[in-house]
Amino acid sequence: MSRIAENIDQIKKQLPESTQLIVVSKYREIREIQEAYHAGQRTFAENRVQALLERKEQLPDDIEWHLIGHLQTNKVKYIAPFIEMIHSVDSMKLLKEINRQAAACSRTIKVLIQVHVAQEESKFGIPPQSLNDFWNEFQMEKDTLKNVIICGMMGMASLTENTDQINQEFAQINSLFQEAKKQHFSHSNEFKELSIGMSSDYEIATAHGSTLIRVGSKVFS
Ligand SMILES: *Cc1c(COP(=O)(O)O)cnc(C)c1O
Repeated sequence: MSRIAENIDQIKKQLPESTQLIVVSKYREIREIQEAYHAGQRTFAENRVQALLERKEQLPDDIEWHLIGHLQTNKVKYIAPFIEMIHSVDSMKLLKEINRQAAACSRTIKVLIQVHVAQEESKFGIPPQSLNDFWNEFQMEKDTLKNVIICGMMGMASLTENTDQINQEFAQINSLFQEAKKQHFSHSNEFKELSIGMSSDYEIATAHGSTLIRVGSKVFS
């Protein structure tokens, strides 16, 4: 068994049934991604549109691609024909553009709404105090948004060794997710994904209801 296959195996063994591993392939060599593919992995994520397009070209067609990094509205059209899920929706403007481009390809695209609770200013996402405004705007627009499926929420914890803080931040993201589900998606079967957890903190994330974890370095180390 290859080292990458072993890492994937190891991580999966620790996951509850309800949590899916998404392998983050950013900055990796094609050969390394192929190794993960040969280990049976079919869901990969990139954080940049350009890299995503290049990799898709060079890798098998049955890979499901997720975008996890900040997305500019003018780049949506490049990924709309094939992207499986966009985790990083942080404005109504972006959501509308994804809907528009998905419609142009006769597709529906799954999206997550990204919240920002971490300390670092550089991280993208909607801050908790602005979420209500976002959901209110969504309520007014939702009949026009036929080509996107809002599947849940995504977030990141601060880059810290302080596990109390990471616990607190994941708990906060989970409660924002539960609140949105109750207020805006009580009749939806699709609003069910919580994308929290990376290499350093996925074990904490699964304890807070993570359904998708995005793991890069731990798979390829
Ligand atoms: C890079 C990245 C990850 C994976 O990080 P690792 O620490 O390598 O597991 C997860 N989510 C996002 C948004 C990322 O940019």
